[in-house]
Amino acid sequence: MTDMAVRPAIDPAASPDAPETAKPRAWSFVRLWLSTLAAYVCPRRMANRWNTVSLPRAILVAIVNLLFVVPWYCVMLVSYVSWDEKKLLVGPKMAQGSNAFYTWLGLFYELPTWFHHAKSQMAHDTRYGIAVALLALVIAVFLMNFFILLPFAARPGDNRACLRHTLRTVLLSTGWIHIWFPVLSLVFLSLIFFGFRTGFENAMAPILMSLALLMFWTLVGQVRAVRTDYRSAAELPKPKDPTCDVCGYDLRAAASDGRCPECGKPVVESLGQANRPLTEWERHPSWLRLGAVFRQLYQLVFAPRSLFYSMPTREGQRAAQHWLIGSMVLVGLEAYLIVPSFAAVGVFEWWIGLFAGGLAVAVVWALLALMMVGIETAGIVVYGRFHGLHIELSAASKATCYSSILMLFWVFLGGCQLVALAAFWNNGYARHYLPRVSEGISVGSLAVAHIAGLLWYELTVYRGVRAIQYANK
Ligand SMILES: [Zn+2]
Repeated sequence: MTDMAVRPAIDPAASPDAPETAKPRAWSFVRLWLSTLAAYVCPRRMANRWNTVSLPRAILVAIVNLLFVVPWYCVMLVSYVSWDEKKLLVGPKMAQGSNAFYTWLGLFYELPTWFHHAKSQMAHDTRYGIAVALLALVIAVFLMNFFILLPFAARPGDNRACLRHTLRTVLLSTGWIHIWFPVLSLVFLSLIFFGFRTGFENAMAPILMSLALLMFWTLVGQVRAVRTDYRSAAELPKPKDPTCDVCGYDLRAAASDGRCPECGKPVVESLGQANRPLTEWERHPSWLRLGAVFRQLYQLVFAPRSLFYSMPTREGQRAAQHWLIGSMVLVGLEAYLIVPSFAAVGVFEWWIGLFAGGLAVAVVWALLALMMVGIETAGIVVYGRFHGLHIELSAASKATCYSSILMLFWVFLGGCQLVALAAFWNNGYARHYLPRVSEGISVGSLAVAHIAGLLWYELTVYRGVRAIQYANK
């Protein structure tokens, strides 16, 4: 089983932290930093190198990468202005070759004036507010990223090692900064080349499409990196005392042909060797095997308890992650349909931008769903602690990953609510009500759609936790 494999021995020469290397620390740090860039081209190789990096070093790498946001932002701003204020146009056409380049370069000299102008336009309070908002944004991005990756890092064994590995991957993969800013700058410059009219609303399609693709690329790189094995021998799962599968009663003294003294469940059903085999899906996790997919889905919907009682908790994590990825693709596809639906009910005109907008909605919704899975996975471990139980993140992730497909219901209700609300405002139904009533309808229906949509997922996860919390395997 790949799940149980120990991390392969790491070549000390390739490891940036190895004390044996004679190379200076600065050089090893530069190599580590370079790996944060290369991570989006060959994630697996880079991630193997990351597995020995300490958290303080990872934080240092993230700070260095974040500092690059300032120069990269200037490059992007200059490129944006080149397009939006027609700086590179000679008559109706784009300036050619070196001419365009020097004009573009010249705009950097104007940056101090722009910033000074923007600063003088703001009140002192606004500046303070912007600083706080930026800080909150950075923290939110890191937290969201952490929870998105957590289910993919879950491996049987020490929970702290898993949390540390996820955090380290988030910090070290901040190299996305060096991809996002140049790509977006190039997109703005190419808008001039392709003759897009100025104004953000005229170039929504290429901008949203590039953002969606960048998010997708980043996510794929990070998921591949975080899925590498990070456990040392001490972090592998430890043998545990035999307990009853249903009530958690200690069965060390119980006869193998007896019953649990607490709840009466036959001991063999908790401790038998044949208990909790891999499910049909887990033996061959492929979305092409429709029969296995539908049987698992049927069980998830109609008999979640028996599904989660029937599967092992210390095995099959990669299959569960495979299920999660497929579920998120379905969530994305479903969310993609929301934006064209606006056109179908007559809120928007049909145009190409709708499809680009759909792509952005799809990626963002799938990311939100992934974040929910991560928060829930961590939440189960915290729930366990409050109840005096030690639940491994890897066991929790099986309940959350398999239940994730039920979020299709959430996207459906959420999408229906958004489209219906847009039609409500667009067709002027709102004028039949007092403003406060129509605002109440908007907020109320939003809350109901999203709470009800997530409820099924939450309940299934809860039932899953009950079935995995005392598992012996
Ligand atoms: Zn029992």
